Amino acid sequence: MPDTLDIQKLNVSVAKTQILRDFCLTVPKGEVHAIMGPNGTGKSTLAKALAGHPDYETLSGSARLDGEEILGQAPDAIARAGLFMAFQYPSEIPGVTIANFIRAALQARQPKGAPFDAKAFYARLHSKMDALKMDRSFTSRFVNEGFSGGEKKRCDILQMLMLEPKYAILDETDSGLDIDALRIVSDGVNAARGPGLGIVVITHYQRLLEHIVPDRVHVMHGGRIVRSGGRELALELEEKGYDWVKQLDASAQ
Ligand code: ADP
Ligand code: MG
Repeated sequence: MPDTLDIQKLNVSVAKTQILRDFCLTVPKGEVHAIMGPNGTGKSTLAKALAGHPDYETLSGSARLDGEEILGQAPDAIARAGLFMAFQYPSEIPGVTIANFIRAALQARQPKGAPFDAKAFYARLHSKMDALKMDRSFTSRFVNEGFSGGEKKRCDILQMLMLEPKYAILDETDSGLDIDALRIVSDGVNAARGPGLGIVVITHYQRLLEHIVPDRVHVMHGGRIVRSGGRELALELEEKGYDWVKQLDASAQ
C-alpha cells in the first residue's frame, strides 16, 4: 500500500526462539499509532527486526515502506528509505559528537560530492535544540556518552527532527523520564507530527499517551497484536491491567 508502513504476517526469531508470530500492523503516513504490551512480548524485537539488526532473523512476512520492501535490506539502506528508529537502550558512540553524527547521517542521504550548507545545518540544529530545551554545548558532546536517561531521549528526538524520516518508531521513549523531560520530549514528537510522517510509539505505560495522543492503540501479547482501538483502549488497559491482555491472547488462539 502506498503511503503506509505496512507489516504483514511477520515472523521473527532471536537466539533460535520465535518471538514475533504473524505480526500485522499498518500505519498510514500522518498518523500516530501506539503499541502497548507487557514486558517480554516482543515490542523491541519488532523495532530491531525492522531496523535490520543482524541478531533478529526474519522467518517470513513482509514490511513495506510506501510499497518498498525493507526486510533483508542493510540498516543504512532502511534508514535511507525513510525509517527512523529510537531504540529503548540507545548506544553510546564515544568520539563522535552529536553535531557530526547528525551531519554524517544527513550527508549520507545526499548524492556523493553534493555541497553541504554548514551554516544552514547549524541554524536548523540550534533551532531544534532550543525547542527541545537542550543546551548548545550538547552539540560537542559525544553521542549518548554519560547522558542521563532524559538527555538520551532528547538526543533521539533531535535526530528525528533533523533527519525528517517518513516513518519513526520510538521504543519506550518515556522510560527513565521525569515529568518535565516527558513533556519536552512529547512536545518534540507532537511538533514533528504532520501529513509527511507516520509514527509508532512503543510504550509500557499509558502516561506517555496523555501527552502524545495516538490515532490508534494496539495491544501486543505473545508476539502479535491482540486488540486494536482508539485512545480509550489505553485507558481500558491501564484500568484492567496486563492480565486482561493475557486472557485476550488466549481467546485469540
Ligand atoms: P519487549 O520489548 O516487549 O519487552 P523484547 O522484544 O525485548 O520484549 O523481548 C522479547 C523476548 O525476546 C524476550 O523473551 C527476550 O528475552 C527475548 N530476546 C530479545 N532480544 C534477545 C536477544 N538479543 N537474545 C536473546 N533473547 C532475546
Ligand atoms: Mg522493549
